[in-house]
Amino acid sequence: MEGLVMRSTGSWYEVRDLTTDEVYQCRLRGKFKIKGLKVTNPLAVGDIVTFELEDTEEETGVITHIKKRENYLIRKSTRKVRHGHIIGANLDQAILVCTLVMPRTSQGFIDRFLVSCESYHIPAVLVFNKADLLVPEAQQIQEELMELYESLGYQCLSLSAKKKEGLDAFMAMLEGKKSILSGHSGVGKSTLINAIAPDIDQWTQEVSTYANKGVHTTTFAEMFEIEEGTFLIDTPGIKELGLMDIKEEEIGGYFPEFRALMSECRFYNCSHTHEPGCVVTEAVKRGYIDEGRYMSYLSMMEGDDNRR
Ligand code: GDP
Ligand code: ZN
Repeated sequence: MEGLVMRSTGSWYEVRDLTTDEVYQCRLRGKFKIKGLKVTNPLAVGDIVTFELEDTEEETGVITHIKKRENYLIRKSTRKVRHGHIIGANLDQAILVCTLVMPRTSQGFIDRFLVSCESYHIPAVLVFNKADLLVPEAQQIQEELMELYESLGYQCLSLSAKKKEGLDAFMAMLEGKKSILSGHSGVGKSTLINAIAPDIDQWTQEVSTYANKGVHTTTFAEMFEIEEGTFLIDTPGIKELGLMDIKEEEIGGYFPEFRALMSECRFYNCSHTHEPGCVVTEAVKRGYIDEGRYMSYLSMMEGDDNRR
């Protein structure tokens, strides 16, 4: 039997049979190691697994095989530097909910999110929430940001979860896909989910209560089907997707506008920082590459992505 992992509590997984849609509680048999990856969980929501029923009455099963992932997202472990936790597998897109005000999402934060997604081969989109709070100057800044990111190939949306404005476009963005929602606390993720799928919010509340009791706090995740074939992963407490797998010399390749120029750089392994005549720094000087993006690049090269 083949199934989709809808929910994980660390030791038990809720698996939905791909042909019958029947849901089973499953355990993993034996040890599953993932090559080259140091992760705290071998299995995540979004994984496709092979499983066998061990007890038809109890509707429990045993997972015997994990299908090769198309992609996955990892959150850096807070305890061990080089360890991570898989927060979702086989994703169609990662959505960053950001806000210009209350709180302000920095460009550096947006860029680190985009670089992470590039490195994990997951299309990224930006949703700017709290449009109703924007004074004209902030509106102007947001429009410039949206123009910048759209020119780089990232879809952007402006909406107000609270005023329920722009939600149709948001639903259209989600349709038929497996998406993960991320963003700073307070940007309005729960409000947004509640606005499009009221039943789910109730669940989120339950999980929070559960999490507050100290049970399953690190591994709990669930994927919701908000419409047939449309899935959303909301991981309570996720703040940032880590850059744990990325080597310094790879970072530039995850900036699409650098990537386009890099082959013309006359330096082999150019760091695009101090090298005279580097095409990337030249493009920054001439205004072809956004200065803020370049600042984000430098900050990532310095490895201070953990400080903000
Ligand atoms: P989360 O931490 O990302 O889940 O954020 P919440 O959904 O809890 O929202 C944080 C606060 O922002 C709450 O007080 C919401 O009412 C408020 N909020 C969310 N969306 C909007 C919006 O579009 N406009 C305004 N003005 N406030 C919003
Ligand atoms: Zn260069």
